[in-house]
Amino acid sequence: MAFVTRFAPSPTGPLHLGHAYSALLAHDMARAAGGAFLLRIEDIDRARSRPQWEAQIYDDLQWLGVAWDGEVMRQSTRLPAYEAALQGLWDGGLIYPCTCTRRDIGAALSAPQEGAQEGAVGPDGPVYPGTCRCAPRGAMPRDAALRLNMGLLAQETQFQETGAGLAGKVRITAQDYVQSIGDVVLARRDMGTSYHLSVVLDDAAQGVTHVVRGADLFEATRIHVILQRALSLPTPIYHHHRLIRDEGGKRLAKRDDARALAKYRAEGASPADIRRMVGL
Ligand code: GLU
Ligand code: ZN
Repeated sequence: MAFVTRFAPSPTGPLHLGHAYSALLAHDMARAAGGAFLLRIEDIDRARSRPQWEAQIYDDLQWLGVAWDGEVMRQSTRLPAYEAALQGLWDGGLIYPCTCTRRDIGAALSAPQEGAQEGAVGPDGPVYPGTCRCAPRGAMPRDAALRLNMGLLAQETQFQETGAGLAGKVRITAQDYVQSIGDVVLARRDMGTSYHLSVVLDDAAQGVTHVVRGADLFEATRIHVILQRALSLPTPIYHHHRLIRDEGGKRLAKRDDARALAKYRAEGASPADIRRMVGL
């Protein structure tokens, strides 16, 4: 199929207007292209995911008129696939264990260092100073975070962006990867995976050709593209859409229960009202 997209919410809170916009846009684009619209529940964060939020997602989407194709993918069932990918990266020497605490990283960053730009902050926070990069190797450990060795992997990449205001070819240099992204965590100790690893593997497993999601993830896409190279996976086309903001111009967060779709529903709004509210 030429156009396969997805909506990938995390069941850690109610869907709000921003999610509704993302789901409606991806759904409408898939229908207009005669393609497929898939649903994926991103529930790797077991501490924050709740069955009632997952149930609310299905209910809200059905109410909105967003029908998904095929089976829902749930990330909590995909741990063996994540583990296999990590093992491959481990065998290739591309990831290493890290036991640094946030405090250790802060302390190392305040000391002089080579490589990373001073004070550089990447999509996941401060660029990791590389403290554990030379940790002794043996079997892949399960009781430590696993970081990507960006110094080994860094290469120029590019992806096709179609989002309004961003459209074009986005190029990322090897130097950008080392200096402004660095050794990102691919597996958290408490999860056995990470958002970045899971999203890349799952988009490929679901055959996603077009990723439609909020512009807040534009920077993270740089990480996803290099991971696709490392894992020999195709790079989809990306469409990062505008964010829905509140009256004060602040972007909506999960905790903004006041803008939960369920609240508008309870107040009698129709799906057409929601479409209007998000500018569709
Ligand atoms: N699960 C992510 C979220 O709810 C979205 C991930 C994505 O679309 O790539 O923010
Ligand atoms: Zn470390």
